[in-house]
Amino acid sequence: MKSFIDAHCDTIVKLANRGGELAQAEDMHLDLKRLKAFPGSLQFFAIWLDPQYYAMPMRRTMKYIDFYHTQMEKNKDTIRHILTFADILENKRNQRLSSLLSLEGGEALEGEISALHIYYRLGVRAMTLTWNHRNALADGAAENATGGGLTKFGKEVVSEMEALGMVVDVSHLADAGFWDVEKLAKKPFISSHSNARAICPSQRNLTDDQLRALAAKGGVVGLNFYPAFLREGDAGIDDVLRHTDHMLKIMGEDYIGFGSDWDGIDTTPKNLSHVGDMSRLLEKMEQEFGGDVMEKIREGNFLRVLQECL
Ligand SMILES: [Zn+2]
Repeated sequence: MKSFIDAHCDTIVKLANRGGELAQAEDMHLDLKRLKAFPGSLQFFAIWLDPQYYAMPMRRTMKYIDFYHTQMEKNKDTIRHILTFADILENKRNQRLSSLLSLEGGEALEGEISALHIYYRLGVRAMTLTWNHRNALADGAAENATGGGLTKFGKEVVSEMEALGMVVDVSHLADAGFWDVEKLAKKPFISSHSNARAICPSQRNLTDDQLRALAAKGGVVGLNFYPAFLREGDAGIDDVLRHTDHMLKIMGEDYIGFGSDWDGIDTTPKNLSHVGDMSRLLEKMEQEFGGDVMEKIREGNFLRVLQECL
């Protein structure tokens, strides 16, 4: 099966919380048994913190990062943690999977820039600045009405991430923060798991102006499979295609990728209920958009950003 890049899943946190092994976990949306049917693929694994841990975010983050590296070590014949763009290419050459460790929410920094440096040393290569709420960096999507953008610390973090070689991710950020990142960013930035607001009006999706601005910076938007971000009511594969079609019209073919949100969502689209169904989605998209466009959406676009940012 063809390889792809998926810029967001919550599998590590879910597994760490309930116990289990990444190698095989049939009741999860994603495990290696199914992912390895797509050799050469790259999966982002996000560390997300339930708000109950906001009183001790770093401690909880350590628990998840430890679990993550333990799982990577146990499964190193199948998947390898990547630090550089060259690591991705080497894994592809060896038909192995690549894994990129990301943080979902700047809460994990506890307002301390040195924490960003340490997370980088622990192998973190991307970070969503906020989750849905306000933190020391910025306001999240649920606080959109306040009009709050990046704080002074948030701006420092964005610049420092670029200097270190980490990918800045604006998914979950409120609109004002998006535009602050857009003004500040010297490198491409991503929206790892968000759709088009013109097609499905959620604060978690991007407006057409935001899509254009992100594309002008050379970034990528990862298509999110969460039904509530695809349409009102039950969603199917066709809804992922509708968002793709809209983004193609607004941005062109060089700025779209995948950000499934596997194991972070409680419902899934019909016929797209776990990572194994990516074969069905890729096939349908190739019929609709053609092989050249799909090569870019599958992985070419995110590879370009990772080459520039890491
Ligand atoms: Zn998320």
